[in-house]
Amino acid sequence: MAKFDFDLFTIGAGSGGVAASRRAAAFGASVAIAECVRVGGTCVLRGCVPKKLLVYGTHFAEEMQDARGYGWTVEGRLDWGALIAAKDRELDRLHGIYLRMLTEANVTVLGGHATIAGDNTIEIGGRCYRARHILVATGGRPQRLEIPGADLAIVSDDALMLPALPRRVAIVGGGYIAVEFASIFRAAGAEVTQVIRADQILRGFDREVRDHLAGEMEKRGIRFLRGRNLARIEAAGPARRLVLDDGIALDVDCVMMATGRRPNTEGLGLEAAGVSLDKRGAITVDAWQRTTAPGIHAIGDVTDRINLTPVAIAEGRALAETLFNANPTRMDHADVPTGVFSQPPVAMVGMSEERAATLGAIDVYRTVFRPMKHTLSGRDERTLMKMVVDGSSQRVVGIHMVGADAPEIIQGLAIAVRAGLTKQDFDRTVAIHPTAAEEFVLMREPVRRLARQAIN
Ligand SMILES: Cc1cc2nc3c(=O)[nH]c(=O)nc-3n(C[C@H](O)[C@H](O)[C@H](O)COP(=O)(O)OP(=O)(O)OC[C@H]3O[C@@H](n4cnc5c(N)ncnc54)[C@H](O)[C@@H]3O)c2cc1C
Repeated sequence: MAKFDFDLFTIGAGSGGVAASRRAAAFGASVAIAECVRVGGTCVLRGCVPKKLLVYGTHFAEEMQDARGYGWTVEGRLDWGALIAAKDRELDRLHGIYLRMLTEANVTVLGGHATIAGDNTIEIGGRCYRARHILVATGGRPQRLEIPGADLAIVSDDALMLPALPRRVAIVGGGYIAVEFASIFRAAGAEVTQVIRADQILRGFDREVRDHLAGEMEKRGIRFLRGRNLARIEAAGPARRLVLDDGIALDVDCVMMATGRRPNTEGLGLEAAGVSLDKRGAITVDAWQRTTAPGIHAIGDVTDRINLTPVAIAEGRALAETLFNANPTRMDHADVPTGVFSQPPVAMVGMSEERAATLGAIDVYRTVFRPMKHTLSGRDERTLMKMVVDGSSQRVVGIHMVGADAPEIIQGLAIAVRAGLTKQDFDRTVAIHPTAAEEFVLMREPVRRLARQAIN
């Protein structure tokens, strides 16, 4: 009798777990994957994909307004229910594709809540399996503020399934999910107020990017209440009353808490298995995705490092290379590009000006301009593009953009930053005209040169 049922048992069929399992199976490993909700995980079913479909779906409002400046007569009204139904059909299709990809890769898919039940042992649905390696890829879930009435708020999972568009929405939180949903609801026609604890949205992003995006969102009618904490939520019939810590009350039809996410580490038997967690409850791993328990690995959001789909996938593939292809591979978390699908969108790769300036002298290049499209549409929108360059080596260490197609443009430029290209390499590159992206190779003079700054 074989000692193990599987070479690899993955708990969680989200982005990371599916990628690791398929790659391991391709290397000849026998693999099982357990999933307690639906194969696909957060990205496909409750995150990136449905969100982006709602971004596309609601952005038509702007397109129709802009078309008028080009001679079109267009009027449109969004049928929110039809948008949600279309989105759900697409998620069902994707779920089917994920399931098929796993079975075609010879990965055994087991439905149910899996737990670690002993050395090399996983229990699911009352059955135990033994595996040479266990991979925990259980992701995370939305976290609510611990305040009275918190249950009266929805979270991102619910926001993606709302049967009707609320007329007045309050979004609590200033991170990327909060900003994206504020944009979706506003573009769909709701009155939107975003309540943030800090003085500005998107903590951790470049300061000019944060200010510029907030300005553009305000032009679209989103109201920010900055530097406020939510004290409680009360029900007022079907409406909701938000009471802030300064006593201000706000009546809305829907409150969405976008106040962070928490790793799914409870009820997995991790403590008994000797897997250490950090103070936020995330699994601690080394550069090889190894936990503190031999034979147990972890990847993706459950490790709370860079919580993005492509990162979870890359971690999963690196692990499969290491374990099953005799190719020890560490995941490199440097210069991971990221996008925020607000309206207008944001994207960046590398360091913010503030961060880079703490490491050495820098040159900052920046341009703010009205995109050509809006000369005729009449829309009062400005695009921001910014490059942060190391003062001595002239290496480009950060690129930032707020404006149409920013994530599409920065994806390409991320290669340049990863490759360590210099400002002179950008200068030598011929522009594609007329585009917005050409500005990235046309910025000639820095707007400022900064000596190294002390860390605050
Ligand atoms: C609203 C929203 C928008 C986002 N937008 C983006 C974006 O635009 N771009 C981007 O890169 N990232 C985005 N993300 C983040 C991205 O979705 C995650 O980083 C990614 O899904 C993490 O993958 P994962 O494999 O670690 O976990 P998940 O995808 O969360 O998968 C974990 C899976 O494990 C299952 N599970 C948990 N416990 C058990 C158990 N005990 N037994 C069996 N199964 C279990 C869960 O049901 C889940 O399916 C977004 C997230 C959210 C919430």
